Amino acid sequence: PSYVLILDNRVEIRDAAPVRGKPIWETDAWMKEQAGDDHLVSLAAGPAGENLVPFACLTSEAYRQAGRGGAGAVFGSKNLKAVAVRGTGSVRVPDIQSFMAMYDDIFHNHLVTDDNLWAYEEGTPTIVDLSQMTGLLPTRGFSEGVFEGVEGINSAAIQARKSRNRACATCPLACGQLTRNADGPMEGPEYETLGLGGSNCGIDDLEAITAFNRLCDNLGLDTISTGNVIGLAMLMAQEGIHDFGVHFGNVEEYLAVTESIAHLRGAGAELARGSHHIAQKYSAEHLVMESKGLEFPAYDPRGSYGMALAYCTSDRGGCHMRAFPVGKEAFGDADPFTLDGKAAMVIEGQNFNSVKWTGIFCDFWAISIKDIVNLVSSGTGHPYTEDELPTIGERIWNLGRILNVREGFSRKDDYPPSAIFDRPLPAGPAAGKNFTREEYETALSEYYRLRGWTEDGIPTPERLAALGLAGLME
Ligand code: SF4
Repeated sequence: PSYVLILDNRVEIRDAAPVRGKPIWETDAWMKEQAGDDHLVSLAAGPAGENLVPFACLTSEAYRQAGRGGAGAVFGSKNLKAVAVRGTGSVRVPDIQSFMAMYDDIFHNHLVTDDNLWAYEEGTPTIVDLSQMTGLLPTRGFSEGVFEGVEGINSAAIQARKSRNRACATCPLACGQLTRNADGPMEGPEYETLGLGGSNCGIDDLEAITAFNRLCDNLGLDTISTGNVIGLAMLMAQEGIHDFGVHFGNVEEYLAVTESIAHLRGAGAELARGSHHIAQKYSAEHLVMESKGLEFPAYDPRGSYGMALAYCTSDRGGCHMRAFPVGKEAFGDADPFTLDGKAAMVIEGQNFNSVKWTGIFCDFWAISIKDIVNLVSSGTGHPYTEDELPTIGERIWNLGRILNVREGFSRKDDYPPSAIFDRPLPAGPAAGKNFTREEYETALSEYYRLRGWTEDGIPTPERLAALGLAGLME
């Protein structure tokens, strides 16, 4: 493999043979040593990416991942081990004074506020108890929604091991919770890892989940998909469908199979193909939790119905970063057990997040459309308006849909797996709750109608023309 080294405006493609098959943290240290520069920052694939595992991630600065959808495998397919950057220049901002004044206002009045204190004090592990209380914490392969071992994996358990906070560059929220562990310090685990790698695998041992987290980050595996796949394999063993040698609560098997997945060894070689594949091969479609081949994150839609629509209309499948209705449903004031009104809620979230991610704002920064408009306008010199931004989000969303349609996606790909309809959760606040296929059909049609798409989920020429995308579907 090769790596791309960018030093200011000089770009080189260099041989990465010495780190072929090596874990990411070792690769990062090697590139720093080669460059003789400790400030070099890299985005690297691990063995999982080199082995084209479809849920291989990329890791930067040890604990930051481009986690979902297989970016690590994209690097692997191009024999690209990493991109490493060291820049010493500056970025030109047309109106730096008003930009900094706005930043100051956002910093003091919207960011470092009591409402955001949760990020500093507890970070995302605080969601574990919320999910447990609302009955949507994925447990034992999504077969349950409450976990009897929750006290081993919740925020209080993390706080008992916390040594200090850790932040991304210049962020005052510093949501990272650095913990002490037998294998040394580690940031996290975050909520998704606690849910998918913890309760979903029947594991309540925080030391083990941290080891799983470390393996995934270093080998280049997405913890969400990996925990989902292993949980499914454990459930298949429990149901007598197929035994991959992994069983709920068995820490040794759980850690061993994580390594095997990255290196395509033994049962890991098969699990590395993902939940969709193993469910199809072993007739376990009635148990799987994925959409468009991407495994569900740690919010069971049976406890927050809008998440079903969010996952299944998402361009990349089971993703909670496109729209997050659970924040308003199970964790807020909206009724979590109805699909009424959820199409509009999901669309609003998808459009807004399309803008927010394009602007590279952190998920945990509760930033408004108005603030984004002001920052981006003074930062770029282009005068955006508040009315314009949702339309820009809609345009981004439609561009994604156009690409998916080109690849053959349509309404048939926007449905939840059958377990959502047919296997209600057995206990907890969401026990016995599920919506019918007819109710989902109605919500999906409403979603398409509001988007200006056909009943089959295809953007209409009129809608595309209104968004300035005329001709892109031809
Ligand atoms: S930028 Fe976001 S993820 Fe990073 S420390 Fe701040 S709040 Fe946390």
